[in-house]
Amino acid sequence: MTLARTGFRKQSMQEVIEKQAIKRAKKLATPSLKRTVMKKVGKVGKANTEARKIIAEICEEKGLNYCEIRFNKDVTCLGSWPLAPAHLHKRAWYKGNVELLADFNQWVVACQVCHDRIEHDKELTEKVFKKLRP
Ligand SMILES: [Zn+2]
Repeated sequence: MTLARTGFRKQSMQEVIEKQAIKRAKKLATPSLKRTVMKKVGKVGKANTEARKIIAEICEEKGLNYCEIRFNKDVTCLGSWPLAPAHLHKRAWYKGNVELLADFNQWVVACQVCHDRIEHDKELTEKVFKKLRP
């Protein structure tokens, strides 16, 4: 092997390494779809946690420690446990807006049974909100 050839091979090897490094850097710099989705979920999740805190404070202030919906026909309300805020719109609608999520007109206190009952019934949800948050 001649010196020139060795030199050439060395250079090409270095080039290959550099090219690989650039490729890797580009891959890292480009956010994958998965990464973007994860970020969004993180943001919305954080907003929900923040909103929950504010909602809990409002509930304490207003003495809301019972289910506001109180269904008693096709399902039986559990009364005062377990309770969670039931929102007028689906989570995605709020787009992680804490103020909107915590807005008193956007949620009612609901037990598990009443919450489940309105969850996939938009009409019923609107009816409940019309009555409880006129
Ligand atoms: Zn209930």
